[in-house]
Amino acid sequence: MNLNFSDMTLKIKFNELNHDEYIFYIDNHKKYKDFNTLGLYRSIIENDKLSLPEKIATRDYAHKSFKKSFDFLQLKDPKTFVDVSSLGINLTKADERKMWDDVIKNQQIILNDKRIKHRNFGTHSKHDCPYDDCIYKGLMVRPSSRLAWGSMHFDSDKSRYQQKAKSDRRKMDRKREQVIISDQIDN
Ligand SMILES: [Zn+2]
Repeated sequence: MNLNFSDMTLKIKFNELNHDEYIFYIDNHKKYKDFNTLGLYRSIIENDKLSLPEKIATRDYAHKSFKKSFDFLQLKDPKTFVDVSSLGINLTKADERKMWDDVIKNQQIILNDKRIKHRNFGTHSKHDCPYDDCIYKGLMVRPSSRLAWGSMHFDSDKSRYQQKAKSDRRKMDRKREQVIISDQIDN
């Protein structure tokens, strides 16, 4: 899969790196003007070369340099934020609910931060679907996001989504979203 990195000064695909290579590029990230932290975190989820302990170690190592950018993902790409945060953890339904509630709270904190207000975060609107128990209810999302309720609920009913379609859906949406990834992060 082409993640667009190879066209730019960073001639690698994050999702094909092994753990040592991640460490190298994280250590040297300042040399690459197109280093994309959102792409980095997303790739940890997708990378087939990393074992689960390596994924966790890579994430923790990335946090040393990019924790602040990572926290912004709650607004920019909340699904990736939750997926990366919960690596290796078997979330109960209650855990998952709590995690999304925290994301929704933190989104407001980020949006209310005066310093942040002047930065371009694009247009967000609330995920507001007809399902009373929807885990994304109240979540701020971009209209183009795979978490916008239209793209999430229209073509698959909720139970199907919650069971098996997750990864397929993610792959499909990933393709569509590649176009906008590059301007989603501006640190
Ligand atoms: Zn919903």
